[in-house]
Amino acid sequence: MFEKQIRIPSAEEIIEKQPLPKSLVKIKHERDELCKDVIAGRSQKLLVVVGPCSAHESAPVLEYVRRLGKLNEQVKDKLVLVPRIYTNKPRTKGVGYKGMFSQPDPENKEDILKGIQTIRALHIAAIEQSGLSAADEMLYPENFDYVQDVLTYVAVGARSSENQLHRLVSSGIDVPVGVKNSTGGSIPVLLNSIFASQSPQVFKYNEYQVSTNGNEYAHAVLRGRVDHHGNDIPNYHYETVMEIFEGYSKMSELKNLAVVIDANHSNSGKRFYQQIRIVEEVLQNRLYDKDFKRAVKGFMIESFLEEGCQQHDVVFGKSITDPCLGWADTERLILDIAEKA
Ligand code: PEP
Ligand code: MN
Repeated sequence: MFEKQIRIPSAEEIIEKQPLPKSLVKIKHERDELCKDVIAGRSQKLLVVVGPCSAHESAPVLEYVRRLGKLNEQVKDKLVLVPRIYTNKPRTKGVGYKGMFSQPDPENKEDILKGIQTIRALHIAAIEQSGLSAADEMLYPENFDYVQDVLTYVAVGARSSENQLHRLVSSGIDVPVGVKNSTGGSIPVLLNSIFASQSPQVFKYNEYQVSTNGNEYAHAVLRGRVDHHGNDIPNYHYETVMEIFEGYSKMSELKNLAVVIDANHSNSGKRFYQQIRIVEEVLQNRLYDKDFKRAVKGFMIESFLEEGCQQHDVVFGKSITDPCLGWADTERLILDIAEKA
């Protein structure tokens, strides 16, 4: 049985009370275009989606994005930096901390209305303080409406990418959607998800029957896979990228071949420091093979102020979910990507 605990206002009601200020709408749209141009190959820049696994507290995330905003000034001719501000966390076993959307205070119980207000305030403050609009994961498609006006990049996670509603909602999103390979790693499943997201759809979404145009900026994110024994198996190598390349050639309806390499998760086996090596290997492969270079449009990197992770929120700016690179390594890595892009 369900006990109705509290009525949550609709996205329209929330956004009316907490709108994205007009001065920031322009910045956000300009950044959407930068990001789309990379995915569509109209720009040769590389996309770097970078930031903590989860945004569990606003202050360290804002400190992080301010640093990223300054770094962006140095690299913006070569890179499009998009901070990860991930406010919903999928959990492997379905229990535990579910992100700021559900728990605005990670040490306290769920308060979803406060969570929604907190994440909107955070996304808006991040744009205001850094000039950078962010990426978030669409874990619950029906909740996407609450942040649809503030994001420049949307991720569909490994546990969601085979799900019908995620695919249908992706088809109506006006910014690039990065579809992760599912945890099992099937490339046909990934290509079918991208196909569904790029196709026009009609379905029920929240209170309405809606129609969409299809999102031609839906693309692949390779995050490594987990085998039948629970071992992490990387998939950032030439061979998997070329499988996607060939899949796009066979499925001629697919638009805008683009692969983002997620350097953490099952690619690094969550050994966060390996992210540097993985990114360097991919950059090297880009030099070696022109088709690989055409396919790989960027990276996803888990990074925060402090390296590693912690069980409870004790150290400021240290992840309470997946382990992250620290700031100094991140800055060096981003400068290096810009040099080699
Ligand atoms: C993440 O990006 O933090 C994440 C949970 O990724 P995945 O869906 O690939 O596990
Ligand atoms: Mn993570």
